[in-house]
Amino acid sequence: MDRRSFLLLTAASVAAPSARLVSAITADRDEASSPWYTSMRRCGQINYNERDPLTIDAEAWGDYWASLKVNAVMLNGGGIVAFYPTQVPYHHRSQFLGTRDLFGEMVAAVKRRGMRAVARMDCNWGYEDALKAHPEWFERNADGSPRPHAESPWLFSTCMFSTYFSEQMPAIYREINQHYPVDGFFTNGWPSTGALRVCHCENCRRLFDKLGGKPPEETDSSNPLYRKYYQAYMDRVLEIWRLWDKVAREKNPQSVYVGNLGGGLDTVKDLKEISEAAAWFNADHQGRGGETPIWVCAQQGRVANSVMGGRPITNVAGAYSNSQPTWRHVSKAPAELTLWLAQSTASGMVPWFHWLGGSPEDTRWRDVGRSFFTWLAANESHFRNRRSVADLAVLYPQRTVAFYSRPEARRPKVRGGPIDYLQGLYYALLEGRFLFDFVHEAHLGRATLEKYRALLIPNAAYLSDSHCEAIRNYVKGGGSLLATFETSRYDEWGNPRPDFQLADVFGAHVAGEVIGPLGNSYARIEAQHPILDGFHGTAVLPEAENRLPIRSDSAPLVLSVVPGYPAFPPEMVYPRTPRTTEPAVVFREVGNSRIAYFAGDVDRTCWRSGNVDLSQLLQNAVRWARGRDSLVAVEGAGLIETFAWETEAGYALHLLNYTNPNMTHGAIRHAYAVGPQRVRFQAVGRVIKNVRALRSGTTLRFEHHADTVSFEVPGIEDYEVVALT
Ligand SMILES: [Zn+2]
Repeated sequence: MDRRSFLLLTAASVAAPSARLVSAITADRDEASSPWYTSMRRCGQINYNERDPLTIDAEAWGDYWASLKVNAVMLNGGGIVAFYPTQVPYHHRSQFLGTRDLFGEMVAAVKRRGMRAVARMDCNWGYEDALKAHPEWFERNADGSPRPHAESPWLFSTCMFSTYFSEQMPAIYREINQHYPVDGFFTNGWPSTGALRVCHCENCRRLFDKLGGKPPEETDSSNPLYRKYYQAYMDRVLEIWRLWDKVAREKNPQSVYVGNLGGGLDTVKDLKEISEAAAWFNADHQGRGGETPIWVCAQQGRVANSVMGGRPITNVAGAYSNSQPTWRHVSKAPAELTLWLAQSTASGMVPWFHWLGGSPEDTRWRDVGRSFFTWLAANESHFRNRRSVADLAVLYPQRTVAFYSRPEARRPKVRGGPIDYLQGLYYALLEGRFLFDFVHEAHLGRATLEKYRALLIPNAAYLSDSHCEAIRNYVKGGGSLLATFETSRYDEWGNPRPDFQLADVFGAHVAGEVIGPLGNSYARIEAQHPILDGFHGTAVLPEAENRLPIRSDSAPLVLSVVPGYPAFPPEMVYPRTPRTTEPAVVFREVGNSRIAYFAGDVDRTCWRSGNVDLSQLLQNAVRWARGRDSLVAVEGAGLIETFAWETEAGYALHLLNYTNPNMTHGAIRHAYAVGPQRVRFQAVGRVIKNVRALRSGTTLRFEHHADTVSFEVPGIEDYEVVALT
């Protein structure tokens, strides 16, 4: 077929949908109660560039995505560059488009093969002709100058508070909706979960006048203007999200708008508020670099789950090498890429496989995606999750993550990054092989918490009165609690309180200001307690780098503080005060609740130091707080992360093997298999007839006593999923 007749064919197929397409659309209408995206399990994205219309082969891409059995493909529609003959003024048509309608061809290619087509848009940048015609659309510096892109300075940053967002983008969506049978819209780069931007355009200046002044450029929740700006900013994000979602559904109520979120643990924007507008959460968490641990992708899934309550979550996996520096046009190491897709799946997200550039010179990534996705498709019912099986809740402390420890200038003694507390507890939970969920601080009600035996709180310093009341009620109802350091010492904006809001629950009161950072301080063992299991042959343990002096009248002294003393020179290294009565930790039992409160930042210190005793101490405390055996226990060698889900088919136990020299640096380039793992799984009220390891494709022998199913997984290469049906 020559290019001309090919174009005619694709144009015809867009204008007059095939019989197959019509039946697919009819089927849609029949299932009006559950939109298509609620059941998708696999997504793909080809992110083509302005020059691609010269060379890209739409049918070949259609074949590739069909071979992965994806449910939906993201296809570049427009925004910065239009890949179709747009009539919207200042919507820049690709200079290489010629007579081609690339977007139309791509949409037709994926729809013909039974996949959904989502228009991938970019609302963040515009060209100079738009800047001249519509100066009000663009962000400005304080001196009035526009903000060019750092690498592509012919593009300028658009302002969310302008009509570019409320009029120009909707005009483009409507044009696309009118001409193409798209199933939804996705915007790259907006709104993100990161820090707010401050712009000085006319629109924003008017907003500042309303707020009473210009907000600070940096995140600073101690500043009253920042607080007002934060709320105005969130309001605008939700207003735009809802507007775009409405526009997306104008032609087809089954359509949807989805923004770009992500950020892993580190979020500033209010995820709970965003989740109220979002029918679909897309996490743009594509890869890692530097010293980032491998498990950050699974953490992203946990954060998103904490606000989405079972609604769809996708995660973008960059098939290109998105380390630091980034290489857009070479493949990521296959073992790293596979483990990324595996973490997305294990944590309950839908993996979204992403390549940049329509005519790749490196095609090594193709088989990696095909192999993983076809395996997913072959076992689909085991990846349709109904609910997580976990008996521990970890508080996701959004306000603390967003505002505490920032800005660094305000806290001259930096107490670590905002996510170090959570990361330290997380690492201990991985080492201890606990099953847990994240619970967002806005969802601490009984309905969410009642399934958990304990709530674990990694230094949630900034908590509102109502958050604290929910925690108090949970403990009153028999739930157990572990909390660290400054938890509840400030309100949700960071206003200090005279004492912990949860002092009555902790059985501890603030008795001074934070001491630290200070190394070479210790916790002296004063009495036997289950949390000291395994600590034989020592009278002291490492103490956290920062601690809050506390007093406690209601609990026996188990670990006392030995204040820090010089670590250098060796002649000076001896304790000046070898013994005190200051508690390093408080353990209490009230009714059925067990409460462990650590006065130091033991979680953060555990993460920063990598100290094994601190991890063991946290694991022991979690085990003590939880009590009894867990719902699922996995015993064996290796550092693994586990997720368990009740699924459409039964249960699925996901085992991710992180035992690898590249766990915290460099791409995973090879999987180091771990040996036998013995599993006990409580399948309450369900008779299990089959236990099968889906990755290795083997049926496992098992024993079933009462509700407990026991079996051995012979080994885990990189990832195993055991289906119990
Ligand atoms: Zn502005």
